[in-house]
Amino acid sequence: MPELPEVQTVVNDLNKKIIGYTIVDFWSDWKNAIKNLTFVSFQKNIKNKKILNVRRIGKNIFIDLSDGWTLYIHLKMTGHLLIKDNKKISEKEQENFSERVNQYVHHIWFLDKNSNKDKSNCQMNLEFSDLRKFAKIVLMNTEEIENLPEIKALGIDAMDRKFNFKKFQEILEKRPKSLIGIILMNQNLIAGIGNIYRSEILFEAGVHPERKIGDLNVGEMRNIFDQIKIILKKAIRMRGTSDSDYRDTSGGSGRFQNILKVYRLDGGVCSKCGKGEIERIKMAQRSVFYCGECQK
Ligand SMILES: [Zn+2]
Repeated sequence: MPELPEVQTVVNDLNKKIIGYTIVDFWSDWKNAIKNLTFVSFQKNIKNKKILNVRRIGKNIFIDLSDGWTLYIHLKMTGHLLIKDNKKISEKEQENFSERVNQYVHHIWFLDKNSNKDKSNCQMNLEFSDLRKFAKIVLMNTEEIENLPEIKALGIDAMDRKFNFKKFQEILEKRPKSLIGIILMNQNLIAGIGNIYRSEILFEAGVHPERKIGDLNVGEMRNIFDQIKIILKKAIRMRGTSDSDYRDTSGGSGRFQNILKVYRLDGGVCSKCGKGEIERIKMAQRSVFYCGECQK
């Protein structure tokens, strides 16, 4: 599932490519993805709205539109957004878009600078490829976003400037009996870290995922905090991890999968110590990967 770096990459791409365009029309062959309106009223309400801004809260994408509307998207397991500029698709993009993983387009927003254009000759398509069809699409009033239960419940964003070491320590110290591997994934405490980066962060910090918070010393907490920032920043710079379905808006892969140290590398030898074997355990039904030598 896309985590903070992947969603941030998509948001950055969208801000670069679709601001100022008007939604001329919308098509879907999987109408169940639209959660709060019927397809007909979704299509009617989204037509002729101009795209003003794109932002992220946790792993949720918000596309702010004119007249106080916002398009709210959660990519879930396999969803990813593709932007196809019908006037200039590069050879590389053409090659990316023809990749199997990008072939599951179930929703299309037709975009143009001119709102009177017909969808058949508009300039840009925003396409939503989603193999498993778990993604969520909502059209709502912008001002109601902060009242959404799932948004209200989110903890502080892992990349928020206000998320500093003191704040991290406060979160941890309230939960001495919890396991660090579980806490890092709890979106209601810290938003944005998922399965991939949890394993990588704890590996770099040298802390075993099953350690109890109450047993961690300040130095270990500091290491974990530093690695949260370092790894997420690096992953954003590398346009995310494409270990399975995630692709950016050009249909291309991120690059962080090339430098993963433990995630899905179980059975291999640790690259840091050269002797430990990468192990895999389940915590709350999700796999976590670590080196038994480096992480105590
Ligand atoms: Zn090791």
